[in-house]
Amino acid sequence: MGETPTIKRRGLALVLSSPSGAGKTTIARRLIDAEPDISMSVSVTTRKPRPGEVEGRDYKFIDEATFKRMVDANELLEWARVFDNFYGTPRAPVEAAIEGGQDILFDIDWQGAQQLSEKMKHDVVRVFILPPSAASLEQRLRSRALDPEDILRKRMDAAAGEISHWPEYDYVIVNSDLPTSMEGLTAILAAERLRRDRLNGLTAFVREMQSQL
Ligand code: 5GP
Repeated sequence: MGETPTIKRRGLALVLSSPSGAGKTTIARRLIDAEPDISMSVSVTTRKPRPGEVEGRDYKFIDEATFKRMVDANELLEWARVFDNFYGTPRAPVEAAIEGGQDILFDIDWQGAQQLSEKMKHDVVRVFILPPSAASLEQRLRSRALDPEDILRKRMDAAAGEISHWPEYDYVIVNSDLPTSMEGLTAILAAERLRRDRLNGLTAFVREMQSQL
């Protein structure tokens, strides 16, 4: 016993989706703060920043012409139109993280989750966050009151649509209690990090051990 060997592994792409108001952003931030070796994928968007949002932390805020140029240059791993705005995931940082054994967390919608699954099937772990009830979702959306009333209505209609995609995910967390949800998510991450097919340093590690036996 004694020393803990480091076994090289591929990073994983942890995708969190939920309707807005289910607590996904809080869960994502907590996970990033609590866990080493995972960082957030920062999307580009044509949406205007909301109060309190920070350029480069929450999003990279760009105009539509720049977005189109990035799509044409194949610089986005996936992209989607959500409400009246475009959102996309820059490819280069994701590929570098995964090759380097670092995990990356995505706060993207079901359209993004589908595209990522097609493009990097073996690296993706999909988690869907459900609110505990319709009433709690509505209450959270209202208490934020960041959007005008018509956008709020749109978001509630969109929530019903977003929720219908739950069967496309590997795991589902019903977020009634934040600490319990965090325990669940941390357990998912711990187990997925141990999957044999991600541990690409395992063959060398075991060979070395066998040679010493
Ligand atoms: P919001 O405008 O509230 O920040 O985000 C609206 C929706 O867009 C959320 O469901 C969020 O997960 C999704 N979203 C944010 N970034 C991306 C992205 O890069 N790609 C995709 N497909 N969806 C995204």
